Amino acid sequence: MSYDIVIRGGEVIDPSQQMRQLADVAVLNGRIAAIEPSIDCASARTVIDARGQIVTPGLIDLHVHVYPHSPFGLDPDSLCAAGGVTTLLDAGTAGSYNFDAFRRETIDRAQTQVLSLVNLSCIGLIAANLGELLDRRYADPQGVVATITRHPDVAVGVKIRAGAHIIGTGEQGWANLNDAIKAARDSNTWLMVHIGECPMSLPELAEALSPGDCITHCFKAGSTRVTDDNGQIFEAIHAAAERGVIFDVGHGFGSFQWQVVEAALEQGLEPTTISTDIHTKNINGPVYDMPTTMSKFLMLGVPLERVIEMSTTRPAQILKRDDEIGTLRVSTVADIAVLERLTGEFVLTDSYRQDRTASELLVAATTVRRGEIVPGGGGRRMVRLPEDSP
Ligand SMILES: [Zn+2]
Repeated sequence: MSYDIVIRGGEVIDPSQQMRQLADVAVLNGRIAAIEPSIDCASARTVIDARGQIVTPGLIDLHVHVYPHSPFGLDPDSLCAAGGVTTLLDAGTAGSYNFDAFRRETIDRAQTQVLSLVNLSCIGLIAANLGELLDRRYADPQGVVATITRHPDVAVGVKIRAGAHIIGTGEQGWANLNDAIKAARDSNTWLMVHIGECPMSLPELAEALSPGDCITHCFKAGSTRVTDDNGQIFEAIHAAAERGVIFDVGHGFGSFQWQVVEAALEQGLEPTTISTDIHTKNINGPVYDMPTTMSKFLMLGVPLERVIEMSTTRPAQILKRDDEIGTLRVSTVADIAVLERLTGEFVLTDSYRQDRTASELLVAATTVRRGEIVPGGGGRRMVRLPEDSP
């Protein structure tokens, strides 16, 4: 049998099949063709030597910003190569007024699979610093539903940034949140809520969400936290997680604090999904890329298989595409991340400028996207060593 690519000798970790073993992975015609302990690669067009490396489904980042007319927007294809990410979910950078152009200019042109949420604000995040829902006229639940109806293959849900400085306080804040919830229900999709300095308490907000809705920035510090003033996770947060509300990391430049993550993990609140919230203002630190964000959870003691599950299989399920991506099952799309697990001393920084030193760091070595090796190399440039290392 001849293959396009054989990835040889890596440790294959695929949570969708409870698989963790040394194996070869063969790719043919854009699909996973075989996973076997040993595959004859003599007739393969390309052989990737993955000995000593980890082979996982292509990573899925559930929170990015790639709409270019927002000051936050990055190029999706460069994120793919640097981070081993083969599917990106844009977290509502565009709204009903500019989504068609987002699709035309970016989503349809990118080599990397871009899916998107639609912002409740009709203008999305083109002037995010001004607060996109401070003026209630910008809330456009019907436009969100129409946009999702028009683009069902790429527009998969609804987004609101629920800070008081964005949606307003008191009744206005609730009116905006309720519009976003209604848009999600009316479009038969789900809502991602960005938390942080919200006008309502987090328990109140969580109680308003349904199973399948998502709280992003779930380990943020500040006035809207999953923990109370004594560092205890709110009962309503545990209850929300139990009934299927998704807790997404959305690291970002202001949304990930070691103390909050540690309290959550200690008290049994693991994130459902690991995501970066990567955008122009955090790509050069503290976020860098998906593997760096995943490494933070390894450092905090979450087992590697679960870290990978939170970055592949689970986001695929949330996107309702787990029959095709987030898996290495034979005949699914050949989206594959080859990750290197560096050992040494590496500085990892949260969103509040607090450094921790980790003994392991994941970096993207090679990425295969729909059966093609992605040019542009991996994420090794993101490695940051302690000051005193030789
Ligand atoms: Zn974001």
